[in-house]
Amino acid sequence: MNQPHILLVEDEAHIAQGLVFNLKQDGCRVTHVDTGSAALAHFKREEFNLVILDLMLPDCNGLDVCRKMRQHNQQLPILMLTALSEEQDRIAGLREGADDYLTKPFSLDEFLLRVRGMLRRSGWYRPTAINGGPYRFGANLVDLTELRATTAQGEINLTGLECKMLETFFAAEGQVLARTQLLQSVWGVAGDTETRTLDNFIVRLRKYFEVDPSTPRYFQTVRGRGYRFVREPEADKE
Ligand code: CA
Repeated sequence: MNQPHILLVEDEAHIAQGLVFNLKQDGCRVTHVDTGSAALAHFKREEFNLVILDLMLPDCNGLDVCRKMRQHNQQLPILMLTALSEEQDRIAGLREGADDYLTKPFSLDEFLLRVRGMLRRSGWYRPTAINGGPYRFGANLVDLTELRATTAQGEINLTGLECKMLETFFAAEGQVLARTQLLQSVWGVAGDTETRTLDNFIVRLRKYFEVDPSTPRYFQTVRGRGYRFVREPEADKE
């Protein structure tokens, strides 16, 4: 396998040094920058397999960097690094298209596990079109192969991870998926990982596809058990 190329955006030198060293030990090629503008410059010129993005940067907010990268590349996995006090930023980051986050201080083992999981999946999204074509439910038409959907709000682009999650839900239509199952199949992580990432993805899917995201009909919460996707909620059948 080719060496994965990682863009590390981190301005705290002592943290960056440790991460660069260990990522290289792990077989990755690392480009390290300490500002958002340098990150975007590299992003435009080079190919990366993963971006590791600190949110607090000296020249700009990492959220803006994340948004700009997503405008050009929906597939590239983005792992955010945030401080414990940046709860709102973390949620905003997941909304801007980041795939996962780690809260500082994190353990090196946890960091490398996350990175490996994300790299494994960065090649994963070879969509298996369900019944050969776009998937329709309600007013929505989802094209997993093109990473696009048409919804009541118009055309939207989907990230690779959003597609993976939709694919998992569509394949298990009508069944309850436990949080651990979703974390395992979408993020490839064990169930004891922080789970707010999952909840934020559900919020995103509901915003895209539900008529009223506050009373979801397609992406249902099953209290104490997990989530269930229903293609034809009862009211639609009548
Ligand atoms: Ca920082």
